Amino acid sequence: MTGTLRRLLPAALLAALVLVAMAPPVASGDVPDRYDPKTERPVSARDKIKLIEKEYEKLLKKVGLSGPKRRSVEIDPKIAALPSPYEPGTPISQTEAIETEHYRFRSDAHPKLVEAYARQMEAFYDKFCDAFSFDKELEKKSEIWLYRDKDTFMKRENKGANVGGFYQPGNRRVTAYHGKFGMSSDTRTVLAHEGTHQFQHLVASGIFQQAPTWIIEGLAVYFESARYDGKKVHINEIPRDRLMVVQRAIKAGNYVPIRELIEVPQPKFTGFHYAHAWSVIYWFVWSHKKNRTVFTKYWDMCRQRKAGRKEFEKAIGVEIDELEEHWKEWVLKLNPNRKPSFDD
Ligand SMILES: [Zn+2]
Repeated sequence: MTGTLRRLLPAALLAALVLVAMAPPVASGDVPDRYDPKTERPVSARDKIKLIEKEYEKLLKKVGLSGPKRRSVEIDPKIAALPSPYEPGTPISQTEAIETEHYRFRSDAHPKLVEAYARQMEAFYDKFCDAFSFDKELEKKSEIWLYRDKDTFMKRENKGANVGGFYQPGNRRVTAYHGKFGMSSDTRTVLAHEGTHQFQHLVASGIFQQAPTWIIEGLAVYFESARYDGKKVHINEIPRDRLMVVQRAIKAGNYVPIRELIEVPQPKFTGFHYAHAWSVIYWFVWSHKKNRTVFTKYWDMCRQRKAGRKEFEKAIGVEIDELEEHWKEWVLKLNPNRKPSFDD
């Protein structure tokens, strides 16, 4: 869904721009169109292309598809390019572990790169503890396996190109690779997403795999969208593409009703549901402190026992349809450039 939107909309805009570019120039005083009115110099073909690109960017911004995409601090390119000291094909289990306070990494990549990712994960760990009210000492550090690149990951883990990483509840391990994933994801977003599941398992213990999918996945998307500033993680970020999907669905009247969303099981949970789950959680956390309290109450139920629709209704204290009206109204007004914030 997201991918289709991204592909279709810019293509339509580009077509419009090409038409504009081909149209006869609008008269602008005495300056012929092949001259730049400011410098009075002829406009070269290359400059014309630049101009079109600039307009294109502006239009993309208008529809909310461009602008500052990732303001998180990225891994230093020099560190990212460091060659691995391990022979190709070295099994991850035979690499030396790199440990931080809460994580144990194993990786066939350069240790400096692994340390950079470990620092990010420690910052996320702090945020997880805040968000999930967790202050227990860990009996065992959380394990993360990180492959040096996508090819090695696919080969050794027997995964297709559409997998960026995964969490295995059986051994409580996150597995991912260093590199880009899809159009807008990378190692940081994948580790944040799968790391959320690992942490949820820690907090919810034996009931983790029975918790409602919308809350498990919605929270993972919520954290994957967070911004890392080099020290801290900020969780009020809005993923533009997910928001657009939900806003368009609400406007078109084909959104997933909340009473349906909260009962969709994992195998039927599509990208459309991920976007909805994110938006419902974002609404709970950022629309009002009271809503945040309600959400915390419900999450507490989910991590202790099986908590389906009945428990959800009990926690929210109103009809689901009534809650849905508030959510719809708030989400429609949500603007990625004006993030809500009362105590991030
Ligand atoms: Zn997930």
